Amino acid sequence: MPKRNQPKTIAIIGASRGLGLGLAKEFAERGWSVLATERSEGDDLHALADEQEAIEIAMVDVTDPTTFDNVCGRLDDGSVDAVIVNAGISGAKHQSSVEATADEVAHVMMTNAYGPIHLGKKLLPKLKDGGTLAFMSSLMGSIADSSGGYELYRTSKAAQNMLAKGVAEQDAGSRDIEVLSLHPGWVKTDMGGPNAKLTVEESVTGMADVIEASGQCGYRFVDYSGEEIPF
Ligand code: NDP
Repeated sequence: MPKRNQPKTIAIIGASRGLGLGLAKEFAERGWSVLATERSEGDDLHALADEQEAIEIAMVDVTDPTTFDNVCGRLDDGSVDAVIVNAGISGAKHQSSVEATADEVAHVMMTNAYGPIHLGKKLLPKLKDGGTLAFMSSLMGSIADSSGGYELYRTSKAAQNMLAKGVAEQDAGSRDIEVLSLHPGWVKTDMGGPNAKLTVEESVTGMADVIEASGQCGYRFVDYSGEEIPF
């Protein structure tokens, strides 16, 4: 029997700065218990955790499965309401399929697609029925969006979407879990740059609303306002 007034729990992977840090703050302010990860010790997440006692920190690198137990080992099976695998990079020196080296392709694909999905699969048993497993994707990963450029980045996010849909259909199986690919909008972060349209606060408020309203089973690719994006 669930305890009344027990705070909801979320794990946010890649929360040292940008959207991940903003999501950790937003969910803590909404009264959730937050397990936020960083890959090396930095100031911003620790300063936030000093202010918000609902935030705990673990060390995870999505390209290094030996670190996954730092988060998985702290969560009981069936105890978590939502997971957001936010970690990502915009790419390597070369983006084009003509110039990118095998090492660059491997690094971006591992960081943006295979690593996040591997960790997401490990975290799946930790989710409650009715829980949400979200991966931070991008509109650029929509095969229907043919705006061009950033070939390596968009390919890695398209691959992530494909794998996320597979998690919903194969790994979550008959469990009552919703798998989301989230597009945060174009956001002013280190990655999005100063000319981006949205502030971190605007994007994370929208995404937190989407997560709080989720919980159907199956897969959706949606933006920060909840609007569906063609796969
Ligand atoms: P930032 O570059 O500001 O932050 C990226 C975050 O990912 C950092 O916390 C970084 O940690 C973490 N990270 C990178 N590599 C790894 C790794 N190997 N293991 C664990 N954590 C890692 O980017 P944003 O906040 O803008 O982006 C967050 C997500 O949103 C990304 O997946 C991005 O692709 C996506 N996105 C962003 C858009 C935007 O406009 N900003 C648009 C569309 C999608 P560290 O500090 O250690 O480097």
